[in-house]
Amino acid sequence: MQSISSLSETSRHYLELEEKYGAHNYHPLPVVLNKGEGVFVWDVDGKRYYDFLSGYSAVNQGHCHPKIIATLIEQASKLTLTSRAFHSDLLGEYAQFITNYFGYDKVLPMNTGVEAVETAIKLCRRWGYEVKGIAENKAKIIVCEGNFHGRTSTVISFSSDPSSYKNFGPYMPGFETVPYNDLNALAVALQDKNVAGFLVEPIQGEAGVFVPDENYLRKAKQYCEDANVLFIGDEIQTGLCRTGKMLACDHEDVRPDILILGKALSGGTLPVSAVLADDEIMLTIKPGEHGSTYGGNPLACKVAIASLTVLKEEKMAENAAAMGKILRDQLAAINSPNIKIIRGKGLLNAIVIEHSNPEAAWELCLALKENGLLAKPTHGDKIRFAPPLIITKEQIEECANIIEKSLSILH
Ligand code: PLP
Repeated sequence: MQSISSLSETSRHYLELEEKYGAHNYHPLPVVLNKGEGVFVWDVDGKRYYDFLSGYSAVNQGHCHPKIIATLIEQASKLTLTSRAFHSDLLGEYAQFITNYFGYDKVLPMNTGVEAVETAIKLCRRWGYEVKGIAENKAKIIVCEGNFHGRTSTVISFSSDPSSYKNFGPYMPGFETVPYNDLNALAVALQDKNVAGFLVEPIQGEAGVFVPDENYLRKAKQYCEDANVLFIGDEIQTGLCRTGKMLACDHEDVRPDILILGKALSGGTLPVSAVLADDEIMLTIKPGEHGSTYGGNPLACKVAIASLTVLKEEKMAENAAAMGKILRDQLAAINSPNIKIIRGKGLLNAIVIEHSNPEAAWELCLALKENGLLAKPTHGDKIRFAPPLIITKEQIEECANIIEKSLSILH
C-alpha cells in the first residue's frame, strides 16, 4: 500500500509544511490539491480525481461553479464587509430571497455551521423562557445519540463521541440525549415540561449516513408540536438538494420550527450559514443580544443568492435523487464480501466495510485515490460517497467501476 514516501516530492513538501506548522487536528488523506472544477479536483502533480466528499457537502453545486464564482468576483471588487453597525444594500435583498425560498418569516445570518447551531440553541432557549414560560435557566434541549453538530464547547457538550468531547470539559448543561430513530425515547423525554426544543439531523451524516426509519421525522415533529417543543432541523449537511430534495425534511413534509443551513449555502466559496424561523421565535432576540462581525456581509449575501439560484436552475435535487439511485444500484451489483451495508438518500451515501483489518476502510480510500476517486472514512469502517450534485450517469458508472476495482485490494 502506498506510503507517504511514495508521493511526489512536491506533494511531500506540502504535507511536511502542514505537519510542521499546522495543528494536528485533522488526519487527511495524503493528497495535495490545487485545482477544482465541477465534479473533479486535481493534485499538485496534475492528476485528476472525482471528488466523492464535496468538502463534506459544501460543494454541492460543483467546484468553482462559474455563476457562483462570477458573482463572488464581481461583489468582491465592490463591497465585502460593512459589519452590522451599518446597513448594506444586499442584506435586505438576501433576507427577502432566502425567507421566500424556504418559507419563513425571518433569517439570522452567521458564518460557519456550528455558529448557526449555537444561534439556534440560543433562539430556542429564549423562546423557551419568553414564549413557553420555562423558569429561568431550566430550559432543556433534547439531542440524539451519535449526533454531529460541530465543534464549539457547547456543541461538543452533547456529543456522544469521545474524540469530540474527551478532556474538553467542563460541559454545558441543559441537553438530554435520546437514541436516534427512537420515537418512544423521544416521547418519554418530551414529558418534561422544561423541554424547549428537539435538535436533530434528518440523516446523521458524520455518524456514517445513518438514515432513520420512514416517518421518524414526521412523527417526531408531531410529538414536538403536541408537547409545545420546537423542532430544530440541522440541515447543514443534508440540505440544499444533497438528499434528492431541497431539504431532507421535505421527504416527510416536515417544516422545522428552526431550520439551520450552512455548507453549500456558498457553494464552497466562503463560510456562510443561516438560521430561519418565524417571528414568534426570531424576535425573541433583540438588538445587541447576538451577532457576528462577518454574519450577513454583502459578499456572503450575494454569493448565497447565487448558490441557491443555481441549485434550482440546474435541478440539482432531481439529479441527486436520480444519480443517487444509480450509484446505490451499482454498488449493490458489485456484490463484494467487504461491503457490509450500502445506505443513503440522493447523493448522501455510505458503505460500511467488513474486514478483519480495522484499517481496511482507510486502505480502500488510498486505493480509490490511486484509481482517481477521493473519499474519506468516518468512524473507522464507514466511507461516505457524496459527489457534487451535477455528476452525470456516465460519471457515476465510471466511479462505480473505480470502486469495484479498488475493493479488490481488500481480499
Ligand atoms: N451540523 C452538521 C449536521 C454538520 O454536518 C456539520 C459539519 O460537518 C456542522 C453542523 C458544523 O458545520 P461547520 O463545520 O461549518 O461548523
